[in-house]
Order: sequence, then structure tokens, then C-alpha cells
Amino acid sequence: MTDPYEVLGVPRDASADDVKAAYRRLAMRYHPDRNPGSKEAEERFKEISEAYATLRDPEARARFDRYGTSAPAGAAPDFSSVDWRTVFQEADIPIDWGSRQGAPHTGNAVFDALFGMMTGLFRNAGLLPGETREIVVRVPLELARRGGQRRVQVPGPSVCPSCDGQRVVDGQPCPECGGSGVRRGRSEVDVTVPPRVRDGSKLRLRGMGGPGNPPGDLLVRVAVTLPAGAHLEGDDVHADVHVLPGEAARGTTLRYAGADVTVPAGTHDGTELRLRGLGVGRGDLVLTVRTDFWRGLARAAGDWMSRLTDGGTEA
Ligand SMILES: [Zn+2]
Repeated sequence: MTDPYEVLGVPRDASADDVKAAYRRLAMRYHPDRNPGSKEAEERFKEISEAYATLRDPEARARFDRYGTSAPAGAAPDFSSVDWRTVFQEADIPIDWGSRQGAPHTGNAVFDALFGMMTGLFRNAGLLPGETREIVVRVPLELARRGGQRRVQVPGPSVCPSCDGQRVVDGQPCPECGGSGVRRGRSEVDVTVPPRVRDGSKLRLRGMGGPGNPPGDLLVRVAVTLPAGAHLEGDDVHADVHVLPGEAARGTTLRYAGADVTVPAGTHDGTELRLRGLGVGRGDLVLTVRTDFWRGLARAAGDWMSRLTDGGTEA
């Protein structure tokens, strides 16, 4: 067992008031509220709290002074029976148990469980800022170009999207989350993808991330998905398109990722067509025309199908 005097930095003969003052000072420094997300601060807070719990209890303190452990003979130190609520209150450590949902009400929670869950509890109870969550949304090239809505899944626990974590809808407890403002499981959120979005850009959805006070943000990283065989060079999309020899000779208009592409008459195999602004972001679409009967035929058939279903939804 660690030496509680050392942990709190007080001499062996420190008075109860000195012990309390030392604990208070350290607790304020390592309070989870002031160190959101810091495992180290959480560990320190736990350590000083255990040390204080030992020294504030005259019996446990006497046992430690005599045997070097606060535990009764033969037992391991046990903090599960400590009334943490009283301990914190006594030392004026501001932990708002009662008025928030999710936090223990008795203060008799088992210490390890309490501290293991502390950060999570505090976040869910609105005592700590929520975590920033990051997820990926796959956006087909066509949608990336014109923008639009895309539904994404947010892993739980997350801010309840029905009440935006406000716990109430029309003056009633939110039916989705039972009034907790938190969705335990994953939830679905519609993301508005702006037109001309670039691959890898991040969209920030305020308050849709991890629960807490304030709720964390949701960062949605855009991954633009390209048609098979295409690749990105910067923001330019490069790909081969196949045309029938007759199409190359006479010229044709083909469809590529939702865009009409004019192949001029007399185009040769290997000709590069650059379509300004039809790539990703402000990039171009760079198509290399390949003259090939069978592949050209397959492409033409695909175009024909897509024209039939035109007016339908994006790929
Ligand atoms: Zn809700």
C-alpha cells in the first residue's frame, strides 16, 4: 500500500484540518472536471482520494500508523465501504451527484467501479465536456460534386439525436432516450455533404458527438468513392473510358459518374479529355479514351441502362 502521508504531502503528525486542506488543494488540481480525458489526472485523483479516505478516518489512520496498512489484519485495503459522497462533501470537492442523472445517489458506490466509470458517468451526467467523435462517410463522386444528404451511423453512447441531448421534446421527456439525453446504442444522423466536397475533408456536427456538458462534436470525415478503375491525383479524377471504334470515329456523348462527357468525332485511342470542375472539389475529370470493341460495347450498354433509369437516385 502506498503511504497516504506521502501521497498527500503531509507530515505524520498533520492535523485533520491540515490533511483536509492538502487533499482539497490536490483534489482541485486533479479534479476530473479540470482535466477532461486525462487518465493520469484520474489516477492521481483516485490515489489522493484513497489516501484522504484513510487519513480522515481515525481508526484507519491509527491502523496505518501502526501496521503500515489501513486494512484490518490480513485483509486488503478496501475502499468499497467508504461513503465517498460524504468524503467529497466534507472536503468541499465540488461533485454534483444529486441533481444530475446517472451519477450515484448514495455515494456508497464501490470505489473502483465508481472511478472506473467516473469519466463516463461524469460525461453522461453532463459534468464533463463530451468527447469528439470521428466517423467516416463514404460519398460517391457524383454526390461529392453536387452535395446532398448522407445517413451515417454514430457509435454509442452518443447525444440523442431526437432531443439533441436536451432530454425533453415538446415539454415531455424524450421518448427516444427516456429523458436521459443520451443514446446508449449507435444512432443515425443525416449529414449534409456540401457541394464540391474534397476527399478527406472533415465536417463538424456541433454537439452530435459524445454526451457531456457541452456535448462533444461529431467529426465526419468524407471519403469520396470513385468508380471502379478511377484514381485521384490531387483533386483530379483520372480514369479510362472505353468507346466503340464507331463512336470514336463519329463522336458520341457518354455518361461518367453522373456527368455527360462529349467525345468529339475523330478521337484516337489514348486521347485525354479534361473536363473542368468535374473531379473532386475544384478538380477536373481526366478521361483517357480507349477504343475497344467489347469494352466499348459494355460501356455503351451501361450508359443505355443508366439513361433508362435516369431521374432515379444517385449510384
Ligand atoms: Zn432524447
